[in-house]
Amino acid sequence: MAGYLGNKFDMIVHHLAVMKPKCKIYDIKKQDSVYFVPDILDQARKEGFVPCKYCVDKTSKLGMNVLKINGTML
Ligand SMILES: [Zn+2]
Repeated sequence: MAGYLGNKFDMIVHHLAVMKPKCKIYDIKKQDSVYFVPDILDQARKEGFVPCKYCVDKTSKLGMNVLKINGTML
């Protein structure tokens, strides 16, 4: 399963495992969806995507470990 999902419409990249209702993942059109190879934030950044402030900011680099430390983010 992919981790990061980019939206070409607004050039924002989301993380599917921690997406929030505000991410509006389900509003992203199929033709606007982009997956990354490798499936990492750096690759998304290289392709010009901006990390989503609702999901990606809190998880960049350390991934799920950050969520456990900052339990309040959930
Ligand atoms: Zn998001």
